[in-house]
Amino acid sequence: MIPNILYTLHHDLCTGCGICEGACPHGAITTVVRQGRFLPTIDEKLCRNSTGCHRCMDSCPGVGVDLVKMADEFFMDDGTKTDKWVGHYLKCFTGHSNDEDIRYHCASGGMVSQFLIFLLEKGYIDGAVVTAFDPKNELLVRSYIAHNREEVLQAKSSKYAPVSLHGMAQAIKQDKGTRYVIVGLPCHIQGFRKLEAVDRKFREKIAGYFAIYCSSGRTFYLTEHVFKERGIRKEDLTYFAYRDEGCLGSLIAKQNCKSLNDKDEVYKERFQSYYHSLRSFFIPRRCLFCIDHYGELGDVCFGDIHIKPYMDDKIGVNSLVVRKKEWLDLLEEAHKEDVITLDEIPVETLNASQKMAGKKKGRNERFIVLNKRLGRIMPEYDVQLPDKIGLKAILDYFQNRVQQFLGQHKTLWWLVSKLKKDTSHYE
Ligand SMILES: Cc1cc2nc3c(=O)[nH]c(=O)nc-3n(C[C@H](O)[C@H](O)[C@H](O)COP(=O)(O)OP(=O)(O)OC[C@H]3O[C@@H](n4cnc5c(N)ncnc54)[C@H](O)[C@@H]3O)c2cc1C
Repeated sequence: MIPNILYTLHHDLCTGCGICEGACPHGAITTVVRQGRFLPTIDEKLCRNSTGCHRCMDSCPGVGVDLVKMADEFFMDDGTKTDKWVGHYLKCFTGHSNDEDIRYHCASGGMVSQFLIFLLEKGYIDGAVVTAFDPKNELLVRSYIAHNREEVLQAKSSKYAPVSLHGMAQAIKQDKGTRYVIVGLPCHIQGFRKLEAVDRKFREKIAGYFAIYCSSGRTFYLTEHVFKERGIRKEDLTYFAYRDEGCLGSLIAKQNCKSLNDKDEVYKERFQSYYHSLRSFFIPRRCLFCIDHYGELGDVCFGDIHIKPYMDDKIGVNSLVVRKKEWLDLLEEAHKEDVITLDEIPVETLNASQKMAGKKKGRNERFIVLNKRLGRIMPEYDVQLPDKIGLKAILDYFQNRVQQFLGQHKTLWWLVSKLKKDTSHYE
């Protein structure tokens, strides 16, 4: 019998994407916050697993996905080339929004937001699933379908917190439009691609997937730790961004401060300063076994570009990978209409700018092999895993696990503060 989602949970393979909740036809799954992450809980009385239902497992990216087979199926007909790290691609670009305000305040160059606005305003799509910062929400993040420019821009920039898209498949099916884009991390896109195969109503409404490159996710404890160290009070926040004001940007926290005549008090710190200093302390274990940096099942994928001369940019610049002719044509249309800037780059330049892409396919594959040899259940991908692990990967794995242990236990956070990397040169 194919197990239910408890299998993923028990083997600590859950990515926290929440897709199983929407996939369950019996309402047996609820996504809850536990140990700084989103995890599913199951009401065994409602679960119909014993009668052959395994929708939750069918859509679960945590247990792995046939990345190569699925990407071949989705993209090969468009005449794509393949690259060891990027997977399928038609073209790679750098680019940015031509609206200086959007470019400056978004995560990289505002390409995701600007392109979504273009698609919505032209009527090419009816909505897009996005994730916004929400000061009224206990978790500070909220996902929804954006139908217009304002709703897209509310969701601008990167959220270094768990993002569960559990209500989104249902929301798309119930929304009155016919064409939707989902913006998500590689694991979100993998889950939705799997869901598509078993949910026709959902599949029929999907126009495309925009993936965001992802080196790894972060638990809610990252934000809690950063706030604690800096004296930022969650309950007083009126505005917050992990990245705002320029290329890569800064953490900006505005909080209502009564003692300052009711004016907003602003805290600002360079993104690299707080983010890079925290090493792997707040990375979920499952991310160590992820081999998909670029979002290989996304129709278009968006990221930064960490290489000169782009790194010297002060306003904002993106890199992107396009895999579908339809989306390439629409990007070029937006470029012709002067909405975005688009410059083709060789795939080698892109890879040179993304060190983590190599780590995911090299290092993380070794982590999978190591854990399999230790008798642990690992995600299954349709790739050839390396035969040898090597001492470096073994040490790297255990260092990561020790750091994660410290990050998971709040009583040990004083050690995190002591062991974190010195990034004062970014200030
Ligand atoms: C956890 C994480 C890790 C990343 N790692 C890398 C990396 O290693 N290398 C790299 O080049 N780029 C990475 N990025 C991508 C980068 O930070 C930008 O998100 C990307 O370049 C898009 O920039 P933009 O200005 O076009 O996006 P914007 O126009 O600012 O729009 C961002 C969009 O992303 C969505 N979004 C933001 N955070 C999340 C989230 N956590 N889950 C789902 N959707 C979200 C929002 O809904 C919004 O629509 C990462 C992003 C995240 C969230």
